[in-house]
Amino acid sequence: MTIRLYNTAQRKKVDFAPIDPENVRMYVCGPTVYDRAHLGNARPVIVFDTLFRLLRHVYGAEHVTYVRNFTDVDDKINATALARKEAGAEGSLEELVRERSDETIGWYHADMDALGALRPTKEPRATAFIGQMVAMIEALIEKGHAYAKEGHVLFRVRSYEKYGALSGRTVDDMIAGARVEVAPFKEDPLDFVLWKPSTDDLPGWDSPWGRGRPGWHIECSAMAAELLGESFDIHGGGNDLQFPHHENEIAQSACMGHGFANVWMHNEMLQVEGKKMSKSLGNFFTVRDLLEQGVLGEVIRFVMLSTHYRKPMDWTEKKRVEAEQTLLFWRSLTVGVPEGGKPDREVVAALSDDLNTHAALMRLHAMAKELDQMQPHENLELEEQFLASAQITGLLLDDWRGGYPAVSDVERNYIESADDRALVEGILAKRQRAREEKDFAMSDMLRDALKAADVDVKDAKDGVTFKLGPDFDPSKLEGLL
Ligand code: AMP
Ligand code: ZN
Repeated sequence: MTIRLYNTAQRKKVDFAPIDPENVRMYVCGPTVYDRAHLGNARPVIVFDTLFRLLRHVYGAEHVTYVRNFTDVDDKINATALARKEAGAEGSLEELVRERSDETIGWYHADMDALGALRPTKEPRATAFIGQMVAMIEALIEKGHAYAKEGHVLFRVRSYEKYGALSGRTVDDMIAGARVEVAPFKEDPLDFVLWKPSTDDLPGWDSPWGRGRPGWHIECSAMAAELLGESFDIHGGGNDLQFPHHENEIAQSACMGHGFANVWMHNEMLQVEGKKMSKSLGNFFTVRDLLEQGVLGEVIRFVMLSTHYRKPMDWTEKKRVEAEQTLLFWRSLTVGVPEGGKPDREVVAALSDDLNTHAALMRLHAMAKELDQMQPHENLELEEQFLASAQITGLLLDDWRGGYPAVSDVERNYIESADDRALVEGILAKRQRAREEKDFAMSDMLRDALKAADVDVKDAKDGVTFKLGPDFDPSKLEGLL
């Protein structure tokens, strides 16, 4: 099946063909690690995780390299470290900066794991690649695409003819629309920073231009080249990064002579109840806030997947409730269904069509409806296929099973086999004999064992009947006959 992806750079869907047919390489701009991820930050994580899962399915898990960076050079991280130092925290400022990044990365991992996002293959921290950034900046200066002035190094935007091609805008359009900073060390207000000086009290690295730190854009160009090579397949991120961040990444890498990314993918923004998420509107919340309110990560994921990634998406309370109901229903259809089935063709086809997660969920709804008409395990193959199809989108993963306290209420009964019935009947007969022999210790023990195995026994005048409960566990009856 051919995967088709919308390439922002071409403004159309294209057939996806990796440069190395055996190995797919993808880079996604990761978070700046100064605080908890908000719900909007989770959107690219879930979108590109779903793509990662699809690519792993098509090319094999070992044949996809997914790099997502951590930007750990940032004023807000420094500010927190400085505040902690002033409040009497132990350690040097550098140590406190590191501590803040480590803490934030730990939260990020915990929160994104909870959304069922696989960890990318590589998660480089910018601070571990300063040498590569310095080398790239030196090369850009050498080629005439950058210049050093007053401890700063700037990229000479007008030296790159195709600047703006990603978003289809001209340099002049962009100047008109953007807040470009005028500064005495800039030849042109449009030029952007590759390197800037650090003060003594801030983290910095020695460089040919003095002690300083890299600009944000050069981080991604340097890390992508180092970890994926000069040319790779897919580059992703939120729409808000298209300009200037991605235009700048392209300018830097292209001027190095790198092919850089073939396909550019951008997710649209997330809103809350129809409004932009913002602190002042009081509708700003983190992924952790939701998890702490008891919203399962799977529910967040479901809501995110219900809107195509190139459409603005609205988080609403109504969608959350509906997702909870649907997932509970779907879970009830997969109780006792083994993993490892083959995903449904239509689900894979929907995902392969520029990650049409909405259509994939619609197909899952239809499959669930079909299963609901049947007795449990009447068509185990279809059940396995349903589970595998949900799992390729990162839903119905085993990790969340414990998060459904109410699931036993809707679980369908354990599917009895003739052996199960024979086993329970044998134990009931033994219990009957023990009663007749007045061996009450034995009959009580057998009664308790049946209860522990979730067998509901009804003693009536006309005989004993029993039902195997949803949690029937034959291992609890082993050795009793
Ligand atoms: P940041 O840490 O702000 O650089 O953002 C990390 C990622 O989250 C980037 O890919 C952003 O494009 C993305 N992002 C930020 N806000 C939103 C939002 N409201 N909706 C969707 N994606 C977002
Ligand atoms: Zn980036």
